[in-house]
Formats: sequence, C-alpha cells, structure tokens
Amino acid sequence: MTRMTRAKDGAHVVIGAGPAGLTAAWQLALRGESVLILESDPDYVGGLARTVRVQGHGFDIGPHRFYTKNQEILEMWHAMLPDDFVEVDRLTRIYYEGKFYEYPIRMGETLRNLGLKRSLRVGASYARARLLPNRSIESFEDWVVSRFGSELYRTFFKTYTEKVWGVPCSEIDKDWAAQRIRGLSLMTAVRNAVLGPSRNGVKSLVERFLHPRHGAGQVWESVRDQVLAAGGRCELDAEVVKLERDGGRVLAATTQDGRTFEGTEFYSTMTLRQLVTALDPAPPAHVVDAGRSLRQRDFLVVAALVDHDDLFPDQWIYVHDPDVRVARITNFENWNQHRDTPPPPTRLALEYFFDRGDEFWQLPDDQILAIAQEELVQIGLIPAGTRVVGEVIRVPDAYPVYDHDYASHRDTVKTWLNETFENFYPAGRRGLHNYNSQDHAMMSAAMSVCNQQGHGRFDVWAVNTDQEYAEELRTDDGEIEERLTPRRMTEPQTALDDTNRSRRA
Ligand SMILES: Cc1cc2nc3c(=O)[nH]c(=O)nc-3n(C[C@H](O)[C@H](O)[C@H](O)COP(=O)(O)OP(=O)(O)OC[C@H]3O[C@@H](n4cnc5c(N)ncnc54)[C@H](O)[C@@H]3O)c2cc1C
Repeated sequence: MTRMTRAKDGAHVVIGAGPAGLTAAWQLALRGESVLILESDPDYVGGLARTVRVQGHGFDIGPHRFYTKNQEILEMWHAMLPDDFVEVDRLTRIYYEGKFYEYPIRMGETLRNLGLKRSLRVGASYARARLLPNRSIESFEDWVVSRFGSELYRTFFKTYTEKVWGVPCSEIDKDWAAQRIRGLSLMTAVRNAVLGPSRNGVKSLVERFLHPRHGAGQVWESVRDQVLAAGGRCELDAEVVKLERDGGRVLAATTQDGRTFEGTEFYSTMTLRQLVTALDPAPPAHVVDAGRSLRQRDFLVVAALVDHDDLFPDQWIYVHDPDVRVARITNFENWNQHRDTPPPPTRLALEYFFDRGDEFWQLPDDQILAIAQEELVQIGLIPAGTRVVGEVIRVPDAYPVYDHDYASHRDTVKTWLNETFENFYPAGRRGLHNYNSQDHAMMSAAMSVCNQQGHGRFDVWAVNTDQEYAEELRTDDGEIEERLTPRRMTEPQTALDDTNRSRRA
C-alpha cells in the first residue's frame, strides 16, 4: 500500500544525492536555506561516486580520481572533507593481445610489444592519415584515425571503446572523442614518451591525483552529514517518479511509494529521459520524444575479494583485449586507502559494460563471479584456483550515450526547459546528459545555485570537460556573463565554519 503524505517538507528540493545534487544541497544548506534531498538508492549517497560495503570491505563503483584544474572545486573538496585526502601516484596499464602497455604510452616498450612489422604499419598509417586527411569527421572512428592513423586506432582505441559503448566506433559521435581525448595526438604521445608527460591540455595523462582515505563515497557521506547538521533532510529510497507543475513552476515531487513533497525550488540530477516522463502535465510531444531518445549506457561491477595479496601494482588496468569481456580492472589496494588489516583479501573491481536486458546483465551473480574469476586467470592476474568471492553491483544509467543524434535531442529538451521554467534547475551528468567527471557535475550544480540565488546567469549546459576554467563560460547570447568567483564558491565555507562553531558551542 502506498503512503500519501503532502507536506511542505523543503523549500529547496534536490533530486539525487550524487556529487551534483549534494553540492547544490551543501551550498544551499550552508547558506541557511531549507533543503530536502530525495535519493532513490536505499542505502548510499554519492551516486556513481559512492562507496559500497561488500562483506565488510569498501568498494568504489569503479575507480574515482579526484582531479580538477579548477581551484574552486579543489577548495570545495577540501572543505567537504577536511584532512582526509591522500595523494596517489598514478600507475595504469593497457592489456592487449596478451601484453601490457604502460599508459601513458612509452614508445620503446610499445614498439617492442608491437614488433617491427606492426610498428612500421603504425608509421605508414599515421603518415597516410596526415597526408590524405579526411575532411568529413563525423564519428569517433573518423576522429581518432585522422589523428593517430588506422593501425594505432585498431590497437589502442577501437576494442576498448566498443566494449564500453557496445556499438561500432563509427556510430559514436566525434564529440565524445573530442571531449575525452582532446589535446592528445600521436605527436604529443611521442613527445610525452620522450620528455615525460606534459600536464598542459592533455586530460588523459594526469600523473598524480587525490583520493579520500576511505574511498570516493567518503566525501559524499561527509557532505550529506554537513547538510544534515545544517538542518537539511535526506530521504533515501525516494525515487522521484512525478513532478507536478503549473505551467513554468514545479510545485511538488512524488516518490515511487506515493509520498509527495512540495517545494519552491527544484534541482534535478535525474536523467532527462526520466524527467520528460515524470513531468505532469507532460511536456509537448516533440520534447518527450527527444528526451526519450537520449540513451544511457549501463554497466556492472564485480566487487571481487581475492584470496591473494600483491597481485599487480596498477590502480587500474584497461583491458582492450577482445578475448575477455571485462573492460577495466581496479585494484583498490593501490590507492593508499585505509585498511584495518592488510590484504588478503585483495579488493578488485571488474567493470563489464552491458545494457540492462542484455543476456550477461541478467545472468545470476554467481555465474558472473565465476566468469570474472576465469578472466582474471586468463589475463594472468591471479593463479588458477585462487578463491574469489564478492558481489555483482548493477549500475543503470551510468554513461550518457553520444550517438549521432544526441546533440539535437538534448538541445530540444534544453530549449524547452530554459523557455518554460522559473524554479527548476537541471544539473550534473545525467541531469544535463553531459559526459562529465565529478568536478564538472559539481560545477554545474554550484552554478545552478548561483543562478537561483541571483548571483549569476550561467549556462550550466555548457559545463563539460572542455570547460576547464569557469571564466570561459558563456551565456546563450555569447557574452561572458560572470565568473564563478572564489567568493561565491567559498561563501558556504564561511557558513560551514559558523555551523561548526555553533555545534561546538
Ligand atoms: C566507472 C566510473 C568511473 C568514474 N571515474 C571518475 C573519476 O575518476 N573521476 C571523476 O571525477 N569522475 C569519475 N566518474 C564520473 C562521476 O562518477 C560522475 O561525474 C559523477 O558521479 C556525476 O555526479 P551526478 O551527481 O551528476 O550524477 P550521479 O553520480 O549519477 O548521481 C545521481 C544521483 O541521483 C539519483 N537519482 C537518479 N534519478 C533519481 C530519481 N528519479 N529520484 C531520486 N534520485 C534519483 C541516483 O541514484 C544518484 O545517486 C566515473 C564514473 C564511472 C561510472
């Protein structure tokens, strides 16, 4: 039986307790606003950056580096989790056709691994791509081949990317390549291999990053606690399925169990696909169609406890090899994380990319664990017969898909939302259908709060990994509207200090 309650529970209703939703809630609560967070997960906050417990051991949902070029976000992380970040020196490799390649790529090792014949083919295909450039770059494949040549594309990009997205690289929009590997070319790879990696402009090659001592979710649990301490509320197991509106004002959010929460301002980090079906009355048909056409890629993580220590030194390994289904393997023992007792068990997370409904997604957990164990042996990371136990964590809607039509669908939804609402603020990775890391998801949320509070008029839809600095942001009419100033971003910190002072008093 559903419970029907109708109460003025929060002036500011935040949908989703991931990095974006929690950043908005944190900023609002610490400014003294009344905040209610509605989160669909029954147990955890942190969204994709949560840390779950498996047989008493902490596991992040995939590897989460805390890395940003934005000083204000960095300051926020330290305010959100004072004194509990550790630094991690990056060590990651690629596994392909039975061999490991250091990543960032080292030329000598790569040429040795590829062999003379193939190395010559790499050179020839690169020369061809430069001398006879493709003038019509539409897809991920076109983009990468034009910069690296077809041989390197096949070796280092094609198989991994197709594992992640489940479609040929020719069907993935060039935007994804431009966003994820902008700044990296064969020449920069060669220069990095000879001179050492440059941090300037090459986003794939960060050598050192921050990480919370108890896993990524520690930051978001700390933020939740600060919101609660400042008088806010956080409801778990509260999936918003309906958003009642009167023209351009959202009035109330209803959860899957029939509870209704009224509010004056609404921040949403749910997918645009879910949003267009939740709004009541529904948006115009073309907006609903556009929202429903925006796809998300699901994935599942095998959180494996391996009865063996000292398995491999990497934080994670990209598995390009097409002979195994796993795409990435993370070893949490190499993240400087706190442990009460040393390994074993060693905590490994194996990421498998599928859509819900796929045969693999629906296999019983023990079968998936057995496949994970076999693949670890096949790659040579654990000895045959090693005991592996654990859990399978299915993560729907993890990756916004950039197919060839996504930009126009997203634009249709964005335009309608912008033109319609006066008290509704979409933010974050799912909420804007932007393939963003935590820092950019947070930035979009912080900007939404600035917009709502009248401190700026930021175009949150423009925040993606191409925007490294807030001052680059432009409004729809092309004007640089306003910087996200340190004062604005650190204001809540002052309120936080006040809250802590009054708690201590
Ligand atoms: C495998 C993997 C590795 C990653 N590695 C990194 C990394 O190294 N560094 C980095 O910075 N970023 C990384 N990211 C990206 C990072 O996780 C995201 O950018 C970030 O979590 C986005 O925050 P968000 O709040 O926008 O969305 P999410 O984290 O998706 O949070 C959204 C929240 O809203 C909730 N929700 C959704 N719909 C509803 C609803 N209808 N009602 C109520 N609640 C709802 C969800 O349950 C979720 O908790 C990685 C992501 C993945 C999947």
